[in-house]
Amino acid sequence: MQKKYHIVTYGCQMNVHESEKIAGILHKMGYEETAEKENADIILFNTCCIRENAENHAFGNIGALKKLKKANPNLLIAVGGCMTQEKGKTDVLKKKFPFIDIMFGALNFEELERLIIKKQAQKKKVIEIREKEGEIVEGLKPFRTSYPNAWVNITYGCNNFCSYCIVPYVRGRERSRKMANIIAEVESLVAEGYKEITLLGQNVNSYGNDLNDGSNFATLLDKVASIEGKFRLRFMTSHPKDFTEEVVSVMKKHDKICKCVHLPVQAGSNRILSLMNRRYTREKYLEEVAFLRKALPQAEITTDIIVGFPTETEEDYLQTEDLVKTVGFASAFTFVYSKRQGTKAAEMEGQIDEATQKDRIMRLVALVNSLTREKSQKYIGKTVEILCEDYDEKKGLYLGRDEFGRMGYFSSKENKIGEFVNLKILSANGISLHGELTD
Ligand code: SF4
Repeated sequence: MQKKYHIVTYGCQMNVHESEKIAGILHKMGYEETAEKENADIILFNTCCIRENAENHAFGNIGALKKLKKANPNLLIAVGGCMTQEKGKTDVLKKKFPFIDIMFGALNFEELERLIIKKQAQKKKVIEIREKEGEIVEGLKPFRTSYPNAWVNITYGCNNFCSYCIVPYVRGRERSRKMANIIAEVESLVAEGYKEITLLGQNVNSYGNDLNDGSNFATLLDKVASIEGKFRLRFMTSHPKDFTEEVVSVMKKHDKICKCVHLPVQAGSNRILSLMNRRYTREKYLEEVAFLRKALPQAEITTDIIVGFPTETEEDYLQTEDLVKTVGFASAFTFVYSKRQGTKAAEMEGQIDEATQKDRIMRLVALVNSLTREKSQKYIGKTVEILCEDYDEKKGLYLGRDEFGRMGYFSSKENKIGEFVNLKILSANGISLHGELTD
């Protein structure tokens, strides 16, 4: 009987794509995917440590496997990702969950095949965490599950050390993939029929800084957008301190590049931005937004915002609200500050109490939602091009997104997944649109 695997993924798109690579390794070893943990021969957790919530979640889910492991001692349990990469975390995991068989880190997941074989040959658990980032491993074939969308890493790691963020500590310094490898990967994805490619990096705009061959993000974007075929091109994430006019001109040059930029602002107060070590001011951010909108009037901007950062006053928070209204973001991911051991912000005086954090996040979410709803209403009566991505069984409707990331639902007798369709928008509900096919 074929061996089966089950992967549980936490965190960001970067991790979701890493799980596709892990799945690729397991398929190469002869495993196939199962949605049921009970049927699996190996259960793998690809963890995240950016927020305390994600860690707690993983702890809960790993703990819940104790019974399953007891009933089936041959079951392999592996834990990898950002959490195991944190200093001292493997000791905590070992103590709390002695039934884990394999632990690896975000910096050596490519070695999973060797680690599984090693574990199968010995009784002892296998714990191998690489402390420092190594060379980029090329040639892993991800087992992609997100057709017609495909994610392509362009950089790994981060050099920015935002004071609240643990990423540079667990994912190492920034490393860029060679441009030729990225282009070859996108070319083969387009040839396979993928219709939307997203270039991924913690800060895509600093792509190439470590290559010393003159490569930069604008050149890469230009080359990828010049690949023949009908597909959409997105990129994330853009750090505002590195977002260049050159990138905007490349966006303008190619219809394929979605005119939607994810530009995390994090806070609207200069004092908080400086404490966060973001290295831009509110004024600089607004200048970039104005430049982008002048060059591309249709452009939409999405963002990330943190509330309740240490020492944040009501006045600071109101400046964030003000910035949100001024920019008019298409959507925003909003977060309560999460204290991460080992970061500068965790040592700061003036940590904000939970009630104040809760109050601010609720007000911010209400504001963001009202702006999003307002934007959605403006779609009614318009016809938009949607890339159909999936079928919602519960709703009995197909769904997809327009170039600005707005979700559109529609009904169709034929399977439209992977097709660009024109949708006349009839109604809007929060962030999602409902329409009918016009062709
Ligand atoms: S840019 Fe800042 S927030 Fe983003 S991953 Fe790097 S350190 Fe973290």
